[in-house]
Amino acid sequence: MPTITEILDTMDYGPALESDAIARDWLARGPFGHFIGGNFTPPGQMFETRDPASDAVLAQVTQGTDQDVDAAVSAARAAFPAWSGLPGHARARHIYAIARQIQKRERLFSVLECLDNGKPIREARDIDVPLAVRHFYHHAGWAELVAEEFAGQGPHGVCGQIIPWNFPLLMLAWKIAPALAAGNTVVLKPAEYTPLTALLFAEICIEAGLPAGVVNIVTGDGTTGAALVAHEGVDKIAFTGSTNVGREIRRATAGTDKALTLELGGKSPFIVFADADLDAAVEGVVDAIWFNQGEVCCAGSRILVAEAVAGQFEAKLRARMGGLRVGAPLDKSTDIGAIVHPRQLVRIHDLLAQGQAAGGVLYQGQAPNGCFCAPALMVEVSPANPCVSEEIFGPVAVMMSFRTPDEAVELANNTRYGLAASIWSENLTQAMDIAARVKAGVVWINATNLFDANAPFGGTRESGFGREGARAGMAAYLRPARADAKPVAPTPLAPLPQSASIGGLDRTHKLYIGGAQKRADTGQSYSVLAGDTLQGHAPFGSRKDIRNAVEAAHKASAWTAMSGHQRAQILYFLGENLVARADSLCAFAPRSEIDASIARAFYYAAWADKFDGSVHDTQSAHVTLAMKEAFGVMGLVCGEEAPLLGFLSLVLPAIAMGNRVIATPSQSAPLAALELAQVLAISDIPAGVINIVSGPVADLAQTLAAHDDVAALWCAQPAVAEMVERASAGNLKPVWQVSDPLGQGRDYLNAATQIKTIWVPYGA
Ligand code: NDP
Repeated sequence: MPTITEILDTMDYGPALESDAIARDWLARGPFGHFIGGNFTPPGQMFETRDPASDAVLAQVTQGTDQDVDAAVSAARAAFPAWSGLPGHARARHIYAIARQIQKRERLFSVLECLDNGKPIREARDIDVPLAVRHFYHHAGWAELVAEEFAGQGPHGVCGQIIPWNFPLLMLAWKIAPALAAGNTVVLKPAEYTPLTALLFAEICIEAGLPAGVVNIVTGDGTTGAALVAHEGVDKIAFTGSTNVGREIRRATAGTDKALTLELGGKSPFIVFADADLDAAVEGVVDAIWFNQGEVCCAGSRILVAEAVAGQFEAKLRARMGGLRVGAPLDKSTDIGAIVHPRQLVRIHDLLAQGQAAGGVLYQGQAPNGCFCAPALMVEVSPANPCVSEEIFGPVAVMMSFRTPDEAVELANNTRYGLAASIWSENLTQAMDIAARVKAGVVWINATNLFDANAPFGGTRESGFGREGARAGMAAYLRPARADAKPVAPTPLAPLPQSASIGGLDRTHKLYIGGAQKRADTGQSYSVLAGDTLQGHAPFGSRKDIRNAVEAAHKASAWTAMSGHQRAQILYFLGENLVARADSLCAFAPRSEIDASIARAFYYAAWADKFDGSVHDTQSAHVTLAMKEAFGVMGLVCGEEAPLLGFLSLVLPAIAMGNRVIATPSQSAPLAALELAQVLAISDIPAGVINIVSGPVADLAQTLAAHDDVAALWCAQPAVAEMVERASAGNLKPVWQVSDPLGQGRDYLNAATQIKTIWVPYGA
């Protein structure tokens, strides 16, 4: 007689299909126009959206033109004054009503999402839609609190929002909820493959009584997205999608004063230590890379396993993979549904072929014919294998082993991305140590792919910048509510004077790199004039000097690892030494500026150990930490005004937060900053923490902006603002245009840090 286990093993699944009737009824309303100014427009030039599981046409949807985008932006602009002028409580009620309405139509949303995207109903029903609802509820709360919690801040205005096809409704919620809570109005473009739940959402806006024009939806392909990005009436762009398009958008918005947040691709590590609960970690992999067909930006796609357990782990993983069911998205027992579009399937197969050609050994489960991809595991891979380095966006994991924690970190960080990481170990000390060392915006400990409206999400490096969710996500939809919020119009930099000799005095300052005074690589200097008087000579720094300075800054990583208290002590000492050397600085700056600089050193010394992160209250049993981390190496392009204070106003907050900096002082008056090197040298500031390169600011700034090893850039020179934003697209570093180059405060500290969200199990 068979045992119960045997029966369970051999028993086949019966069909458990969710009916699609509810969605078919709704689809009968098509063909669909856009949603602009509170109404659906008549259908225009159409494109089809299909069910990837059956290839059947679901609906005809309108391709958005430049005129459509213009009409939507105008509607959003017209709605902005009234919407942003509403008391927070009134906005909260609208957002709450949206949450309630989505909840009432959860089933329709889930089924429609499955049909359009191909994802399993279990995931749409249990993850996408509830999380979208949670997002609106959470942000109804922020609308209520925004005036109190973000005093002095106001909305950007009209937000252009562009979302991908992997979580269509959820990404819409992540974008629209905080934008509305902050008082913005929006124009959203859903992905060409998956526009339907956004159109259903438009109906929800009508049902919830949202004022016309507050939310506008324009459907279409990438050209529609590009038109939205280019539109002059848009104040902020929020984009989720591929790194390549993110780069294009960075270039397109350069110099336009549009705020920008980019949530891009990833190739996230999933690290399993020998002491991990291996069965739990195997289930973790299921959720990391086989969830949502692997079409997840933060998917744990690179499995790194301690060598001691690698064989055992691989055996367990392959057994589990073999049991995954691939098939009809609407079947409640389906684990992996259809790939969103045949083009995406071709891309996955291409990458698999490349990975095998590079020596990878592929194990794959079963999948039906059609637009389906069986779950896959590739082993015997080297770091250079395309399946290891490229984002596949399919249900494909690669597996490598490591011997030591250091090697695990090295492998984990051996990617140009930095979105997420999962760490599996029963040793919390080890897990937290690794969490601090991996380059990722989100880290899950003994878990993976957890999301919550109150947990910041977003990446670093080529995974983009900005956060969505929680307080940090709200901050991205606000800007200082000052009348002069627009930055100063670009002014050309004064040309560098020709070198000339100085009467009797022959003092040429040097660059300050790696804690030492260095001659410029060019061997040249330029004259610095105060009015008509020659004040001295400054080194004519070049690209090469910037590169040397970046290298020196990288070596000074101990500064970032120091406690805030230690950094504070050093900044206080710097302040003291500025007092002692004030007289010698008087030759280069007025006394009032020197006094203000001394005060600034004490101010940021005070902040160094107080700019805390937070613990967020998320829905699951986790302590969700939002740690404020230094970027590492930053470039600072200081302004022309008040050259000593202007230099320290950027350098001090950046280093107080643990960054090492390469700063270009005022082009026309760099001597005060160069003279400061004497004070830095005696103030216990370790070599390489502050590097000073004077010279032609435009060239130096461009080198800093384009340098892959500079993680963030501040720019207080409006003349080069556009150029640095464009040049920064290479490694997608965040660029902060400093609107008040002589100011101080939290804005500077926020811009000097990025949030790393760490989910630690608690009470589970
Ligand atoms: P895209 O980055 O092309 O698409 C994301 C969104 O941007 C879509 O709405 C798209 O429109 C729109 N878009 C495309 N081009 C432009 C443009 N020039 N200006 C403004 N908006 C534009 O991703 P794909 O859909 O092409 O997917 C390709 C790859 O990107 C995937 O294989 C995956 O690796 C990655 N990806 C990453 C995502 C993430 O969450 N990080 C999400 C989706 C994809 P439309 O699609 O309608 O043409």
